[in-house]
Amino acid sequence: MKNIKCPLCGKTPKFVTKDIDEIEVCQILCECGLATEVNEYWLLPKGDPEEDELRAWKNWKKLVSKFPPFLRVHQGDNLKLDFNDDILTVIGKDTDRCKIYLEDCKGNTEIATPDDVDQWPWELDQKGGNE
Ligand SMILES: [Zn+2]
Repeated sequence: MKNIKCPLCGKTPKFVTKDIDEIEVCQILCECGLATEVNEYWLLPKGDPEEDELRAWKNWKKLVSKFPPFLRVHQGDNLKLDFNDDILTVIGKDTDRCKIYLEDCKGNTEIATPDDVDQWPWELDQKGGNE
């Protein structure tokens, strides 16, 4: 969950804490400015700060899931196209023309649009049960 990249800039965001009115809060923040809402951090002495961080990452996952799939794929991700059993790797994107550049395991390249995609990386993961 911690490696879900930012749909706007493609970078990996960070878990951060800060004080607002003397209350320590936490959130997931990307350097481009995209961020989850803040939550109280480690409020109870018995609380588990790792739980708070985990919750923040869950919020990030929820936030990212609202973006269109084209924005959520990044270089190095794997996906599957319609009528093609091969797993293809994303080698680049043309955001202006909404094209995805792909490469198969033999090194053949292919250009696809989001409509051509049968399974996005996060759908492949679910099927494989890797997590
Ligand atoms: Zn970003």
